[in-house]
Amino acid sequence: MIETNDPAIWRNFLPWPGPETHKHARGRLGVVSGRAHQTGAARLAARAGLRIGAGVVRILCPPDAVATIASTVTAVMLTPFTSPEALGREVEEMDAVVAGPAAGLDEGTVANIQALALSGAALVIDADGLSVFKGRSAELFAVLDRDDVLTPHEGEFERLFPGLLKQGRAVAAVEAARRAQAVVVLKGAQTLIAAPDGRVRLNPNGSPWLATAGTGDVLAGMIGGLIAQRMDSFDAASAAVWLHSDAAARFGPGLISEDLCDVLPQSLKALR
Ligand code: AMP
Ligand code: MG
Repeated sequence: MIETNDPAIWRNFLPWPGPETHKHARGRLGVVSGRAHQTGAARLAARAGLRIGAGVVRILCPPDAVATIASTVTAVMLTPFTSPEALGREVEEMDAVVAGPAAGLDEGTVANIQALALSGAALVIDADGLSVFKGRSAELFAVLDRDDVLTPHEGEFERLFPGLLKQGRAVAAVEAARRAQAVVVLKGAQTLIAAPDGRVRLNPNGSPWLATAGTGDVLAGMIGGLIAQRMDSFDAASAAVWLHSDAAARFGPGLISEDLCDVLPQSLKALR
C-alpha cells in the first residue's frame, strides 16, 4: 500500500533542541566533497545540514579543494583526506555522512564509499556515488546497512536497477529498497520514499521550482542532517523530501538551490 507522505506521520519525530542541548548532541554530519573545481555540491549539502539542525558539520575534501571551500563556507569544519582509509577514520566520530555529489566517476569514489560504509556512520549516497556503481550495483548493496539512504533521480536509478522502472515507479522503488536493503528515495516531480521492509510513501507537495541545479545536493544534506539528529532514516528521508518541497513552494519564482537552505527555517517553524 502506498502511503501519502503526510507530515502527521513524522512530525512528532522531528528533532528540536532542549534547553540544555549541546551542539555535539544535536548530531554530527560529514559531507564528502569532490575536487577543487567541484566543491559546490558539498557546500550546498553542508549548509542544508546545518539549517536542518545538525549541530556540527564537517566537509571532508581532497587537499586541492581546501582553499576553495575554506574561503566560501562559514560554521563548517574542514578536513582534507588523502586516501579512502583516512576518510573512513575521519568519519568514525560522525553520526551521518553525505557522499557522492560531484565525487567523480572513478575507482576512487568506489573505494571512498566502501571505506565510509565500514565506519558505522549512516550514509546518504547520491549522484556520482550511485552512478559509479553502474553494472556493479551488487558491490554497493553488499556494504549498505538498513539505515543508509540512496537518493537517485530516474537516470541514476536506471543505472543501479536497469529495467526496473518499467514496472512503474512505486513498484520499482519498493523492489529497489528490498534489493539494496536500504532506504531508496526515487526523486522526481512525485518523489517516492521506500523502506527495505516494503513500506513506501508518495510525496504530495512536489514543487516545479525544484527543477534547478543543486536542489538534489540540498536534499541529501537535509536527509543527512536529520539522520545525524537520530531520526529514523525512513522518516528522515520522508521529512526532508516534504520540507524541501515546502521550502521551494514558499520561495517560488526565481528559486536557486541555496535559497532552499535559507527558506527552510520557515518550513520548520510551521511544523513546530
Ligand atoms: P537532482 O535530480 O539530483 O538534481 O534533484 C532534483 C530535486 O528536485 C529532486 O528532489 C527532485 O524531486 C526535485 N525536482 C526536480 N524537478 C521537479 C519537478 N518538476 N517537480 C517537483 N520536484 C522536482
Ligand atoms: Mg542530483
